[in-house]
Amino acid sequence: MTDTIFALSSGPPPAAIAVVRISGPAARLALEKMIGRIPEPRRASLGKVRDPVSDAVLDEALVLWFPGPGSETGEDLAELHLHGGRAVIAAVLKALGGLEGFRLAEPGEFTRRAFEAGRLDLTAVEGLADLVAAETEAQRRQALGQLRGLLGDRAEAWRERLIEALALVEAGIDFSDEGDVPRDLVPRAIEIARVVEREIAEALAGAERGERLREGLWIAIAGPPNVGKSTLLNRLARREAAIVSPFAGTTRDVIEVHLDLKGYPVNLLDTAGFNEASVDPIEQEGMRRARDVMGRADLVLWMTDAQDVGTDSKAEGVGLNPKARRWIVVNKIDLLDPRPSVSPRPDRFLISAATGAGVEELVAAMVGFAGEAFGRSEPSLVTRERQQEKLAQVSAALREAIGRAGQGEELLEELLAEDLRHGLAGLGRLTGRLDVEEVLDVIFREFCVGK
Ligand code: GDP
Repeated sequence: MTDTIFALSSGPPPAAIAVVRISGPAARLALEKMIGRIPEPRRASLGKVRDPVSDAVLDEALVLWFPGPGSETGEDLAELHLHGGRAVIAAVLKALGGLEGFRLAEPGEFTRRAFEAGRLDLTAVEGLADLVAAETEAQRRQALGQLRGLLGDRAEAWRERLIEALALVEAGIDFSDEGDVPRDLVPRAIEIARVVEREIAEALAGAERGERLREGLWIAIAGPPNVGKSTLLNRLARREAAIVSPFAGTTRDVIEVHLDLKGYPVNLLDTAGFNEASVDPIEQEGMRRARDVMGRADLVLWMTDAQDVGTDSKAEGVGLNPKARRWIVVNKIDLLDPRPSVSPRPDRFLISAATGAGVEELVAAMVGFAGEAFGRSEPSLVTRERQQEKLAQVSAALREAIGRAGQGEELLEELLAEDLRHGLAGLGRLTGRLDVEEVLDVIFREFCVGK
């Protein structure tokens, strides 16, 4: 029999409330033993939570009961909204663990059961993972669209049309001996393939944008040592944008800060200074990592010190991503007297990271850059490499089918049917109707316990 799983589904204690979820065939038993009754479905009610062995009251909680198959996991599901203290949670989890057939859920296992029960397709599962991870407004919007079936529903519609096309072709095969097959079955099937292929191509056109939005843009601050890179990063992180999750990188040399720039996710990197003359192995390692990071960046802010002249040119040859845009940021203009008057250029900024002069203009330009990169248009349908790959397979199969039109091949119908089946298989893999085992572990690894 399937295990009944349980886990803390809310954030780390202490907190006001802790939600423990229980899903599986014995969820009802847990309520009978620990609450003493089965509440009315989908209605919150207050209950005493008791230890099933000693009968001691562990907490008072809001109790919710969602009988399957209409629940989130498709199974019988209960939720206990406990007081969010460590000891309360530990006592309740321990009591649940002592019940026959109960075990702690693995990461993503509730969602996995929802998928297996057909409550979510694979694209929705991916959307859910992204929604939980979303740090900015634009990411939230895209992930919610996916969870609600933006891509899954489209894939289902494409699938239905390809099944129709396949049925037309198969009718041609079945009745070919009888001499009175309608002549236009094959052209009709190919026309369907053509329309679906065009729609998939449109969806794929937005894929890069969709993936980028999941990841966030990478903006690197680079330049020689002591020009003020860290000072700028701190200023940007502290005053100009909401920091989402600041943490030092794995080395002391690359610092990464996630920013929410007017709803756009931006990962800002402060790289080690480029001291080309250095022989210090640690410094050299730092530079190597910095080059790596800069190889990934979409935009590099190359910083120079206003007091030095000619450092701009050092931006060459440090392994920039060839697709990255590069702006020159001349810092420490507060030290210049009189303030330099230079003709404004869109890729050159004069700032003082220390006083903040000019930083607002730089930030406005960064927001503009992000807006351009993510597009201000509709959320993208395709948001992951996996989805892109599967759709590209469908598209290739359909182009094969379309290419057969008018070629008068022998066994035309048979070959066409095969192409359409390939296309259908690709869609099946996209939504998880087919061959799911290969991807499931990868996808569910992203989830935390309790989700
Ligand atoms: P990094 O090595 O490029 O990260 O440079 P830091 O941010 O550590 O700055 C090096 C030194 O320059 C520090 O002493 C800063 O206080 C100073 N500094 C940074 N920005 C400015 C600025 O705009 N004006 C002035 N006067 N000093 C600055």
